Amino acid sequence: MKAGMSIVDKYKTVRKTIPEKVKLIAVSKTKPAEMVRELYDAGHRVFGENKVQELCSKYEILPNDIEWHMIGHLQTNKVKYIAPFVHLIHSVDSIKLLAVINNEALKNNRVIDCLLQVKIAREDTKFGLSVPDLKKVLESEDFYGFGNVRIVGLMGMATFTDDVIQIRDEFGNLKKIFDDLRSDYFISTPSFKEISMGMSDDYKIAIEEGATMVRIGSIIFGQRVYN
Ligand SMILES: *Cc1c(COP(=O)(O)O)cnc(C)c1O
Repeated sequence: MKAGMSIVDKYKTVRKTIPEKVKLIAVSKTKPAEMVRELYDAGHRVFGENKVQELCSKYEILPNDIEWHMIGHLQTNKVKYIAPFVHLIHSVDSIKLLAVINNEALKNNRVIDCLLQVKIAREDTKFGLSVPDLKKVLESEDFYGFGNVRIVGLMGMATFTDDVIQIRDEFGNLKKIFDDLRSDYFISTPSFKEISMGMSDDYKIAIEEGATMVRIGSIIFGQRVYN
């Protein structure tokens, strides 16, 4: 991305490289609400955050037609704060968490869409369910009682590496897991259709491998500074 480009220019440049049918989630974590507002004023409505507190504080001050996506690890005791408004939770990695989301959704009289997060990376640091764990969730009796959550697909993160063959392999694996689960558990559930994979450095590969949603932060908003 060229120096001196505005956030909106960067967004438009990125958007042009993404097919229309793929949803772009602009990941605004650590960035001020004013930056979100700039993209909002340019017409973008879909934003992602990875921390509950930051998600809630931006939700409170920004326009209410924004679609907020929770993309980071979610603790059960914090679900209640996002349950009234969150559009999609990408990071469901246990039946226990799903049960809490269902409960909070019920209290808010709504159905919350969720993705199951799958562990596709070889490194140890990423959250997510294994294939046997996914099947355990989908076959559990509890799951069929959850009337206020809807599983609309899967999410995964590739290993942090320069090895593009490995990255492609991991995304291809997530697509295959998705196809298998769809035919085994969701054959009459057309809403199971989303694959959330791909970030700033690997989203093009993810789209080639079948992503329907990409989560992009730093190439739009700039590098994040943590302190
Ligand atoms: C931060 C984050 C992203 C975006 O990362 P970039 O490399 O800045 O595009 C995507 N997904 C998750 C889960 C994240 O935490």
